[in-house]
Amino acid sequence: MSTTNKKLELEKLKNQIIDEKICPDLASNAINLVFGAGNLDAKVCFIGEAPGKKEDILGLPFVGASGEFLDQMLKSIDLSRDQVYITNIVKYRPPGNRDPSTEEKDVFLPFLDKQIEIINPKLVVTLGRHSMNCFFPELIISNVHGKIQKFKNRFYLPLFHPAAALYNGSLKQTLISDFQQIPSILNTI
Ligand code: URA
Repeated sequence: MSTTNKKLELEKLKNQIIDEKICPDLASNAINLVFGAGNLDAKVCFIGEAPGKKEDILGLPFVGASGEFLDQMLKSIDLSRDQVYITNIVKYRPPGNRDPSTEEKDVFLPFLDKQIEIINPKLVVTLGRHSMNCFFPELIISNVHGKIQKFKNRFYLPLFHPAAALYNGSLKQTLISDFQQIPSILNTI
């Protein structure tokens, strides 16, 4: 699909979330729908959990503390935000930054699937267990982080969530070292 068509398709998908009044409770408490941002032809797409306070205010994913950490890790593998695509499972901020509920994740999943299909990256990097479990409900993040998975012809790399790693030094080191595998994975898949 051409970049122009991807842009149109993504715009349609975003409008569908609004028109179909997906998750009205979350929507009514949120300032913005945080749909996703980045390069529509990205080879790698990062999927987080849900927007936080700053993301809700700015309408952009990963612009708070975990976003800064994500930027540093991207830089360490010579990538920048404009070369990748970043989104979340749930597109509205859950009040008080609580975890998104199963229902909220389930209702957004078809939109996330379609979003990934439109962008068509070589690799999907899931950030945290919520994101990973959307695609692989049976997997346990502490067992499979940094281990490539394949599902319906697409490769996935489950990583710990940057926010969790920010508060735990050993998790942080693990995330940084798992992240370093991205370039070689992109070269081999
Ligand atoms: N955490 C997420 O999972 N997503 C964001 O956009 C910000 C923090």
